[in-house]
Amino acid sequence: MSGLRIGICGGGIGGFSAAIALRKSGHDVQVFERAPAFNRVGADINLTPNAVFALDQLGVGDYLRETAARPTFRISRDGETGEETSRLPMSAAAEEKYGAPQLTIHRADLLKALQGQLPKDSVHPGMSAKSVKLTEAGATILFDDDSSLDFDVVIGADGIHSAVRTALWGQDDPKFTGIVSYRGVFPRGKAPETKDTDAFTKWWGEVSEKQIVTFPLTRGEEIFVFATTPQQGWTEEGWTLPGDVEELRAEYSNFHPDARALLDACDEVTKSALHVREPMEQWSKGHVTILGDAAHPMVPFMAQGACMAIEDAVVLSRVLDGVEIGEVKDALIRYETARKPRTAQVQENSLANDWLKKGGNADWVYGYDAWAVGLT
Ligand SMILES: Cc1cc2nc3c(=O)[nH]c(=O)nc-3n(C[C@H](O)[C@H](O)[C@H](O)COP(=O)(O)OP(=O)(O)OC[C@H]3O[C@@H](n4cnc5c(N)ncnc54)[C@H](O)[C@@H]3O)c2cc1C
Repeated sequence: MSGLRIGICGGGIGGFSAAIALRKSGHDVQVFERAPAFNRVGADINLTPNAVFALDQLGVGDYLRETAARPTFRISRDGETGEETSRLPMSAAAEEKYGAPQLTIHRADLLKALQGQLPKDSVHPGMSAKSVKLTEAGATILFDDDSSLDFDVVIGADGIHSAVRTALWGQDDPKFTGIVSYRGVFPRGKAPETKDTDAFTKWWGEVSEKQIVTFPLTRGEEIFVFATTPQQGWTEEGWTLPGDVEELRAEYSNFHPDARALLDACDEVTKSALHVREPMEQWSKGHVTILGDAAHPMVPFMAQGACMAIEDAVVLSRVLDGVEIGEVKDALIRYETARKPRTAQVQENSLANDWLKKGGNADWVYGYDAWAVGLT
């Protein structure tokens, strides 16, 4: 393979998407993932049409459509009364309008689909990046085992605690939002009989931080529950820590019986805290840049974190398409110039936490075409 030698730190959704897209442009890409093995951890990912559209050209569209569920509508309801406050048609209507449907999928199934597009010898599990050093004409990744590798371009796709970001801009811990989340999955057979089991439904509590979201997963065979609530203080690390179902049920005891019935169906839940950072002024230095949560972690209230990482990956591959080594710096500036306004807007709107609460136009988010958006 010709092209640039590109090292990606992080084999998550953003890292794998970037690797596929960059290989399609003819680059030699290697992905280094800290985890020693790719296990079935995590649960849902809600891929809105903008992300599915981007993924279609990475060759995973058919697999995703066969594996995921396709929510029929995106509904908002008052948590206590159950009154419907907005309803957006998804599925075929979204496909017609945006060129792709919304898909809800297990995170591990998405990762499996993406990894399947990469040659085995280009993905290196158990290799944790400690730091990155800029060099005259590229960058060096330094690993935890004290080995190092040189590349023409290095991409930090290593998540919210990014070592690449820290190497370039210093330590800057993400902030706890004062919100915690519970996640649970149960077989559809256990779902209470409500007419919207096939929809993505958000039940809004008395404060908007308090909400329950439910949607189908895995071709509709499972139902996913995601609930958030304010909480003072959080010290534990990780987002698959065990939670307490009784605590969850008590937390939403004033919610409508249909919403509470969904919580009753969960046998177990995980509990984690939501963290954020402010939008960054700069993403790239020399021949190194960052994408996804490394660059713009956001609260999940618009379900756009992974979608933005996928869009980043596509735009990054476009600016590096056909580029010689002497043009890399300018290309990375073009990448962040194209991506920063959009991701900052989504970060801010996610934090405002009123997305589609009472209707509204989703086109600016769902109608974005990462493969065609203008690059200055
Ligand atoms: C509760 C919750 C619900 C969410 N729901 C949605 C949703 O429905 N839809 C959506 O679009 N987004 C959602 N998100 C956001 C989404 O999960 C993230 O935005 C997305 O995973 C970011 O992808 P990424 O590839 O940038 O980072 P990650 O997914 O964090 O991947 C980073 C990878 O890098 C690896 N890594 C870390 N450090 C190193 C290192 N030093 N060296 C090598 N590898 C390293 C990690 O092991 C990991 O595999 C949600 C987030 C939360 C917290």
